[in-house]
Amino acid sequence: MQSKVILIPMFGLPGSGKGSVMANLKKMAEGSTIFSIITVEMGAYFRKKAQTDGPIKDIMDSGGLISNSFVNEVFEELLNASVAAPLFAGENLKEKMIVLLDGYPRTLPQWEHFLEYRAEKNLSVAGIFVELEEKIVMHRSTIRRICPKCGGTFSTEEYQLCPHCGKSEGIRRADDLKMERRVRVFNEETAPVIEEAKSIFEHQITVSGEDTKLASQQVWDFIVQELWKL
Ligand SMILES: [Zn+2]
Repeated sequence: MQSKVILIPMFGLPGSGKGSVMANLKKMAEGSTIFSIITVEMGAYFRKKAQTDGPIKDIMDSGGLISNSFVNEVFEELLNASVAAPLFAGENLKEKMIVLLDGYPRTLPQWEHFLEYRAEKNLSVAGIFVELEEKIVMHRSTIRRICPKCGGTFSTEEYQLCPHCGKSEGIRRADDLKMERRVRVFNEETAPVIEEAKSIFEHQITVSGEDTKLASQQVWDFIVQELWKL
């Protein structure tokens, strides 16, 4: 049996809670007899790639953008590999395989490629929009700390010292230090994609990232109630 693949881009500001929602959904799908969920995370892929690839690292450090044609190529490769992985691992395939895309498509040229690819492969699609006010995203990024001793994360509003090991005041994540620029790029490059996506996706849900547990439940209900018929 082959799974029916449903591609779902996740849209939202950096730090809006997409990652938590994705992690929660993956857990929720473990108990489902119909849906399996896999994730394709472009940001994670490029961060890892930058560790061994000098030119990519230079582009990312300087805040430049990796070319759309290269990102499109990586998207196809990652998607094909991710969809095939459960088969190779000999896992029991469920009826529907939901592929959550994080960080793609982020620009209009990527969006056009996404639509072409989707049409060419005849894939079903839906959209998840996680919304959170920009000022909340910015605030969260200024109070978030990562502990250099144990790797735990915490908020300076709740703790002065790392609550996991008690040994450090923590430092700001590199991503958080770049937040202003990331938000600006999002507003310039990705906001137009979101507008397009909202106007054409037949199946879509918008949730607030303020309470990611609640948002995850709302998205899961949407999947179970609306996407089983795709
Ligand atoms: Zn610690």
